[in-house]
Amino acid sequence: MTALDTSTPVAVVGAGTMGAGIAQVAALAGHPVRLHDTRPGAATQAIDGIRDSLRALAAKGRLDAGQAESAARALRAADALADLESCGLVIEAIVERLDAKAALFGALEAIVAPDCLLATNTSSIPVTAIGAGLRHPGRLGGLHFFNPAPRMPLVEIVSGLDTAPATAQVLADTAAAWGKTPVLTRSTPGFIVNRVARPFYAEGLRLLQERALDPATLDHVMRTCGGFRMGPCELTDLIGQDINAAVSRSVWAAFHHAPRFEPSLLQQELVDGGRLGRKSGRGFHDYRPGAPVPAPRLAAPQPYPETLSIHGDSPLAQALASRLQARGVAFDAAPAADDARVARAGDAVLYLTDGRSATRRARDLNRPATLLLDLALDPMTAACLPLAAARQCPEPERLEAVGLLQAAGFDVAPIQDAPGMVVMRTVAMLANEAADTVHQGVCSAADLDLAMRLGVNYPLGPLDWCDRIGADTIGTVLAHLRDSDGERYRPCAALQSAIHSGKPLHDA
Ligand code: NAD
Repeated sequence: MTALDTSTPVAVVGAGTMGAGIAQVAALAGHPVRLHDTRPGAATQAIDGIRDSLRALAAKGRLDAGQAESAARALRAADALADLESCGLVIEAIVERLDAKAALFGALEAIVAPDCLLATNTSSIPVTAIGAGLRHPGRLGGLHFFNPAPRMPLVEIVSGLDTAPATAQVLADTAAAWGKTPVLTRSTPGFIVNRVARPFYAEGLRLLQERALDPATLDHVMRTCGGFRMGPCELTDLIGQDINAAVSRSVWAAFHHAPRFEPSLLQQELVDGGRLGRKSGRGFHDYRPGAPVPAPRLAAPQPYPETLSIHGDSPLAQALASRLQARGVAFDAAPAADDARVARAGDAVLYLTDGRSATRRARDLNRPATLLLDLALDPMTAACLPLAAARQCPEPERLEAVGLLQAAGFDVAPIQDAPGMVVMRTVAMLANEAADTVHQGVCSAADLDLAMRLGVNYPLGPLDWCDRIGADTIGTVLAHLRDSDGERYRPCAALQSAIHSGKPLHDA
């Protein structure tokens, strides 16, 4: 361990949301902390706020009272940059502008000792660019905390071209000593989390734009079928549509407008209309007092079909069989069929989506009553399953398919016939971005999955998820999506290599 000793004074520059949170974390870890802000009174005000929250945590029993008091005493406002002279680490959390950050570190070089480490909390500016004008850029690295810093466990340790490996190591060990989980990343656009998470928003927004389903149903499906903590609409409403759109635009621009990062017109319209989410009272959903809580659109109860069969032993087929059994519903257990069907109810035949629309699959199979099911994180326990029917599917067969799923205890979310459906399309694109990120040497496979679980609460890391489903399945889904929707869905080289080698992405 090369963590900084807790006697080392730590400076935080910028006493806004992030600076205050980081100062609290450093003080609680036992360091003397100096907080500086160019806005008069901002540092003192932030310290008062931190002390209040420390005392509130102690009052609720979530923090030892003695620890809260000593952290409160460890915080001091610094009126001038020159007051940071004795610090061993300076963490910058000022305005997100390259000129301001470069100027600040340039000024700090003339004040602090040669062995003082410099860290930036930037979420989008290349660390290489921030350090480019420094005399000793090797001591600068990114220390990317997530909001709120005291509660979020993840810290991305970002290395620019000139960051010395020893600097990254000390920053990582210090973050770990502060109770955080560090992951190492190179300074590429969006680092790990803000890059790999883009498809979670982008695919959901695209499905809304295609009118495949409405925002409340999308959120419900992503939670109750996909196992995500929040759906894309409620999450972007919480983050702020303007903030989320700005991050998407910056990653898109940084990747030279690659089609997979294309920003959403629908989101831009929300921003233009001032519907920024919770903070403005309305976004995708309405948060004004008395506004109704939007309900997902689920199918009305249907009678159980008279003839039911479950085909093969895929995870979805096994889950359907055991859920039917548990509810005492009789069915035939049939062997796997050539067309990869999962279940049959009367004339309705159900398949797991493979990235083709139900309509196209019905045509390819010459079977009008073709219906598709979405990917569930765990089909044994999922509360809800989206169902898409081919345009040529007659109404009685649609209702039989609904009846079958309801007999197995699922709420059924009928959606329009969108290729790749909802969870499968999102997970396939998350896995593709994750594989590409690791392939480009941005971070290790293990750190990528860890970052996505801790930074944005995903139920599984995207690489782990892909390995469970099978890279070949994800590759097929993407290839079909590419046929219907173009280059945006091109499987990356790393995913193709996993398919051909049969090796898990985690071994990449
Ligand atoms: P903020 O606007 O809440 O706070 C910024 C503070 O910096 C203000 O108090 C401002 O007066 C001060 N400041 C501006 N220029 C300064 C200078 N030259 N010297 C000293 N103080 C200066 O911003 P924030 O949300 O805390 O973000 C700060 C940084 O953290 C940004 O780089 C941002 O991208 C990054 N970040 C933000 C989040 C988030 O969710 N808010 C998450 C991760 C990273």
